[in-house]
Amino acid sequence: MKYLYIVGACGSIGRQTLDIVRKSKDEFKIIGMSVGSNIELSLALIEEFKPEIVCFRKKNSYKLSYSPIIVYGDEGLEFIAGYKKYDNETFINALVGIAGLKPTVAAIKARKEICLANKETLVVAGDIIKSLIKEYNVPLIPIDSEHSAILQCLTGENKKEIKRLIITASGGSFRDKKRNELEFVTKKEALAHPNWKMGEKITIDSATMMNKGFEVIEAHYLFDIPYDKIDTILHRQSIVHSMVEFNDGTIKAEIGTSDMHTPISYALRYPSHNNLESDNLNLYNLNLSFEELSFDRYPCLSYAYIAARKESIYLTVLNAANEAAVALFLNDKIKFLDIEKIIYDEISNDEYKNIDYNLENIISLSDEIIKKVIKAHGGLEK
Ligand code: MG
Repeated sequence: MKYLYIVGACGSIGRQTLDIVRKSKDEFKIIGMSVGSNIELSLALIEEFKPEIVCFRKKNSYKLSYSPIIVYGDEGLEFIAGYKKYDNETFINALVGIAGLKPTVAAIKARKEICLANKETLVVAGDIIKSLIKEYNVPLIPIDSEHSAILQCLTGENKKEIKRLIITASGGSFRDKKRNELEFVTKKEALAHPNWKMGEKITIDSATMMNKGFEVIEAHYLFDIPYDKIDTILHRQSIVHSMVEFNDGTIKAEIGTSDMHTPISYALRYPSHNNLESDNLNLYNLNLSFEELSFDRYPCLSYAYIAARKESIYLTVLNAANEAAVALFLNDKIKFLDIEKIIYDEISNDEYKNIDYNLENIISLSDEIIKKVIKAHGGLEK
């Protein structure tokens, strides 16, 4: 039996993780769960899985049929992450945003295996997380489809023989639009992703290609590969989830349907490919195409490389500026193309370069930039 703690249970990755647990009750048991602002869904999931500890966003009197330990807010997330009861424990971080960072740190210190869907953890604090993983000797397994693919392509391989990682990108909701057609695109259009069903934030990040930029940074930290050996490529079908090219010209790719249940199952059962009921990929009539992913068309992707090559604290700047800009766009406060302008302005600001790169500064600077950017554009309604 694997004992699971899942934070972000009501989100897209959280619910798909629970789908897998629901079908494999003799394999997995949920011990801790954090839920979101959808109280009806939250209560239904709590009653179904009956975790011993539950974290709600806000204090309230919630009616439950049993008496779990109840905690709240960011402190509650850390409490769940650090709670330790069994030997064979896995922490699944399916939170969105920098809120996922401290819980990851707490779970590493509690020596839980980490299954990571929260990108920001590695984007803003990759160096810190890597040294903690080493110090506490815990596995860190990616849930994202691209990194799951690379992990599988690297199995049994010698890292010294890698020529480059090739991260595939579907192109997001505006892949068929030219830059001059992006001026007046709407939130609704941006949220209509052609291939993947995902949460709102990541769907916007896919449309701007910031998501791919974050994945480049994550890959750098997860697999210890320099940025000049990490490329991206436009692959509209999302069938090839990523590739690794080796020095002899061999390219290994992981291919399959675009269903997040597969990489989630692989992370939970790593390194086993067992036990997931899923649709088989129909290999007939597969038309796979690969095109250049242009920095001119997708400047946010180039901003990720630019920030990654500056002082490490600029990864916090990149993420915070993006987090604020996406929230503003989702609140109809700015236009789509303003997202990239906001990010560029922040990563070009030299004032940040003397800030020490440590957990406290990462969190406080992130908070400061998010508040500043949101205030400068009229605040948020929800
Ligand atoms: Mg991805």
